[in-house]
Amino acid sequence: MQLAQRILQIPPSATLALNAKANHLKAQGVDIVNFGVGEPDFDTPENIREAAIRAIHEGHTRYTPVGGTPEFKEAISRRFQEDYGLTYKPTEILVSCGGKHGLYNLFQVLFEEGDEVLIPAPFWVSYPPMVMLADATPVVVPTRQENGFKLTAQELKERITPKTKALILNSPSNPTGMVYSRKELEALGQVVLEKGIYVVSDDIYDKILFDGEKFVNLAMLSPELKARIFILNGLSKTYAMTGWRIGYLLGPDAAIKAATNLQSQSTSNPSSISQKAGVEALNGSQDAVKSMVAEFAWRRDDILRRTLEIPGVTCPKPGGAFYLFPNFSAYYGKLKVKEGQTPSQALAEYLLEEARVAAVPGNEFGEDNCLRFSYATSRERIATGVTRIKEALEKLEK
Ligand code: PMP
Ligand code: GLU
Repeated sequence: MQLAQRILQIPPSATLALNAKANHLKAQGVDIVNFGVGEPDFDTPENIREAAIRAIHEGHTRYTPVGGTPEFKEAISRRFQEDYGLTYKPTEILVSCGGKHGLYNLFQVLFEEGDEVLIPAPFWVSYPPMVMLADATPVVVPTRQENGFKLTAQELKERITPKTKALILNSPSNPTGMVYSRKELEALGQVVLEKGIYVVSDDIYDKILFDGEKFVNLAMLSPELKARIFILNGLSKTYAMTGWRIGYLLGPDAAIKAATNLQSQSTSNPSSISQKAGVEALNGSQDAVKSMVAEFAWRRDDILRRTLEIPGVTCPKPGGAFYLFPNFSAYYGKLKVKEGQTPSQALAEYLLEEARVAAVPGNEFGEDNCLRFSYATSRERIATGVTRIKEALEKLEK
């Protein structure tokens, strides 16, 4: 069949593909430790599930306004005001079927052929394909591990051309867990204003922050910057609601209006029931979030300590999200790398077969020296997984 050119260049999401493979092996009875997918292992908090059940009983089962119900937009607006001092009107908010959908909508209305979009590496797997689906060009900007994999103002400046339309920032980061400080953002913000580019601030992990750190994004730094920033957030990570498919995009109203029009011609509104649940998530008690974050913090310490005990492995300490991005390049010389494979792919394959641990190869995130571990899994599985990896790597030495 002759498919459209547009789709032929797009690979399936590597994170979702690996998860499918790990689940398939599990279903066959193989005891897999899944460090693959970035999905909280907790159940959605009870008050949120109850709100959804109530929504069904009360008949909230019809189309809602395309871009989200007034009630849900108000809850989103209130959270941003209270948590970050940011004011967003309903016309500056679009609710979509997951954060991914929000980004997709934005890219479709903001980018076109000839536009360059800067993506600091390591990056989340879906950014480059989504930019390409909008006919624009992803420009990957490498960062350095010594700098915590964070983009500096100088590195940003050097990559901006007259074609640069936007920069994508993601803090806390998937896959590194790195968090930008206010000072680092101020330096980046200055370049953004000087050069007049837009920023897509993917803040989906904003609440999963450790060590008492306070969340900051570029929009919070000044009204001039806020006018150039699009914020992407959603319920998936903070409230363990990946299956409910709710994300939201906040930004200047002309783009939000265009993205809402696009959504009206594609998916229409996101689920009415999920939006009702979202109102409870944002307005109700945040205690469950606090305890999930406390558990992630414990696991961060544990998996980092265990991983750093493996000889030759280096890894910066993540400040948020639920990922670790250790550097395994010390082992690459001992690996059998098949044709067409990168070393990180060969290592991920070796670990899946030899250690029965699923981890995502770093090349998918634009950094081949590393593997991504998601520690959204139990303490016991973390201990088992890292021990198995260590043993499998010892075998390579022989
Ligand atoms: N951004 C980042 C960095 C992510 O890791 C994810 C998780 N898939 C998303 C956006 C979108 O998540 P969702 O579509 O589940 O809201
Ligand atoms: N964001 C998660 C991850 O990186 C979920 C999978 C996806 O949507 O890519 O694993």
